[in-house]
Amino acid sequence: MKSINDIEIFENVDMSKFTSYKTGGIAKYFVYPKTIQSLIQLMDYIKKNNVKYFLLGNGTNIIFTDNFYDGIIINLKKIKCLKIDKNLINVSSGYSLQKLVNEVSKNSLGGLEFASGIPGTIGGAIYMNAGAYGSSISDYLLDVTYLEDGIIKTVSKDKLKFGYRTSYFKKHKNIIILSATFKLYSSDKNKIVNKIKEYTEKRIKSQPLEYPNAGSVFRNPENISAGALIEHNLNLKGYNVGDAYISTKHANFIVNMGKAKSVDIIKLIKVIQKDARDKENIKLKLEQEIIK
Ligand SMILES: Cc1cc2nc3c(=O)[nH]c(=O)nc-3n(C[C@H](O)[C@H](O)[C@H](O)COP(=O)(O)OP(=O)(O)OC[C@H]3O[C@@H](n4cnc5c(N)ncnc54)[C@H](O)[C@@H]3O)c2cc1C
Repeated sequence: MKSINDIEIFENVDMSKFTSYKTGGIAKYFVYPKTIQSLIQLMDYIKKNNVKYFLLGNGTNIIFTDNFYDGIIINLKKIKCLKIDKNLINVSSGYSLQKLVNEVSKNSLGGLEFASGIPGTIGGAIYMNAGAYGSSISDYLLDVTYLEDGIIKTVSKDKLKFGYRTSYFKKHKNIIILSATFKLYSSDKNKIVNKIKEYTEKRIKSQPLEYPNAGSVFRNPENISAGALIEHNLNLKGYNVGDAYISTKHANFIVNMGKAKSVDIIKLIKVIQKDARDKENIKLKLEQEIIK
């Protein structure tokens, strides 16, 4: 490991250690900026030298291909900040969403219970407007601070085009989310803890958490859930390509049963999409992102 200008730099990093599918090839560089200033300098270098880069959160919504990544993976978990001022929360983008849920519940602040069990970062959650049980991360958001072309901006939620698993950031890949402010509400601590427990039990019952996966593979199409479509209409539960299997517990999950490669996961996704198109005339859209 080298450290230059407040940036920790690792070379030839095995990305399977940084993705929840436990797949992915080698990345030439993997870096942790430790300050916003060092991140700004890094992005300036990247732009001037036209270097390929990817902003990695916790790697729980991506399929990182098996090929060599000739560029820089940037991770912001070492720029850490959490400020709780009454019911206002300011948190850095590299902070764990699960950790935030735990911290706010200790402070008797309600609203984010739905996010317990979503294993991503604040940045990753805002990027795709992560959600569950009828709520999403944008519900309690006030504003987001981000870096775009060397300039830091704070923009209120209503301008950020949040929708079902989407946001302004999905269409503006050059933007780096730095932090966010949430407004939560005072609640009874026991009520919060019980809600978290209820959601955790639901997840354990319905999701294949015992195997590496990256959550829901497809967005729900209209009028049917992707899981029901794959299980009942396409009859594909348990189908596999190599060690990548459609989970027998939840058909909208692909699990790595051992030595799956990203290529197996991607082939399996294509099989499901073809079947959905041929048999049901449904275009299944990927919720996860393939990083090349
Ligand atoms: C067991 C399991 C359960 C899950 N349950 C849910 C669920 O209930 N609901 C749900 O919505 N999702 C769920 N997910 C998917 C995933 O956890 C979420 O989508 C999460 O928000 C992804 O965050 P991440 O930090 O892992 O992002 P990553 O996978 O690392 O990245 C995803 C995208 O976000 C971008 N990104 C990350 N950080 C930033 C940043 N700071 N600035 C700009 N872009 C950024 C990346 O560049 C990438 O394009 C689940 C996943 C697993 C494994």
